Amino acid sequence: MPDIVLNIQNISKSFGALKASDGVSLDLREGEIHALIGPNGAGKSTLISQVAGKLKPDTGKIDLLGSDVTKLSIAERAKLGLGRTFQISELAMDYTVLENVMLGALGKRGGAFRFFMPVMKDAELRECAQSAIERVGLSRHMHKITSELSHGQRRQLEVAVALTLEPKVFLMDEPMAGMGAEGSKMLTGFLDDLRQQAPILLVEHDMDAVFALADRISVLVYGKVIATGNVDFIRNHDEVRRAYLGE
Ligand code: ADP
Ligand code: MG
Repeated sequence: MPDIVLNIQNISKSFGALKASDGVSLDLREGEIHALIGPNGAGKSTLISQVAGKLKPDTGKIDLLGSDVTKLSIAERAKLGLGRTFQISELAMDYTVLENVMLGALGKRGGAFRFFMPVMKDAELRECAQSAIERVGLSRHMHKITSELSHGQRRQLEVAVALTLEPKVFLMDEPMAGMGAEGSKMLTGFLDDLRQQAPILLVEHDMDAVFALADRISVLVYGKVIATGNVDFIRNHDEVRRAYLGE
């Protein structure tokens, strides 16, 4: 029996008459990247939001690292070790890359984490931020003002901010979106390593990245998982080819 770190069981979520999640079950295991693919509007982001705690499912249950988190807040899930990439709007554009990562690490610990973690000393904070920046491949831009970064570099920066919290499980919703070839390559290499520290539930449109990275892939269509399996299984799955790969 593999170690299951995240177990999503029979989740449903409606917006009016629309079933954005329709009885979704899937799990994430130790050391793996589980990719979630599907056409636009299939319900991928809705599912990620429910796992993160931003949206409440109508029915179903979510277990994270052995705890039932279905009713827990975003901050409580983060405290248990759930990491996610942050929105670009949460970056301070006039500050440097290093300052943003330090602010992110401080803000999270000083806010929701105030009661759980001791505030880090300045040197410790800087070191933690620097190492996160190195890991996502932004060392060269450490002292650049954030507004001067490319779109792709800002996405790398978001991942660095999330990393400072040392998540045990990672959610990522289209981290490659808007990235150039160099950024995608860098991020692919980084995610490849990261899975050992924190398994990743990865929503991604870039099929080259998905096929290169995923241990397993689940295909979501109209809120339902139509197939789960390894890369070969998904590539040769008739229904998936018809519904999504456009063959
Ligand atoms: P994906 O990420 O796979 O492209 P989404 O999860 O964003 O899909 O959306 C799934 C469906 O739910 C879409 O039809 C979308 O329009 C709808 N939807 C998403 N969020 C909301 C919301 N807050 N209110 C109403 N409809 C929504
Ligand atoms: Mg989406």
